[in-house]
Amino acid sequence: MIEKYFDINRLYGKVLRYYIDKKHYSKEKANAIAQKIIQKERNRRMCKNTDCKHLLNDHIRNYDSCLVESCTCEKFTR
Ligand SMILES: [Zn+2]
Ligand SMILES: [Zn+2]
Repeated sequence: MIEKYFDINRLYGKVLRYYIDKKHYSKEKANAIAQKIIQKERNRRMCKNTDCKHLLNDHIRNYDSCLVESCTCEKFTR
């Protein structure tokens, strides 16, 4: 399955709005939570190949070679 482009800013805005509008958290608190969630989501999508560490979206069809210039990674590692 090809994952849709991962838009960090959009997800960030959604999480922030959720905690402010629905949970009535302060902006600071909602911001701290959003940061944590983004970090986790990023990690989940990051290639664990130590020479790569690029995101899932940077790999052809989400599992083949990395598209980042100068990166030698040939397979997305979870
Ligand atoms: Zn890479
Ligand atoms: Zn990689």
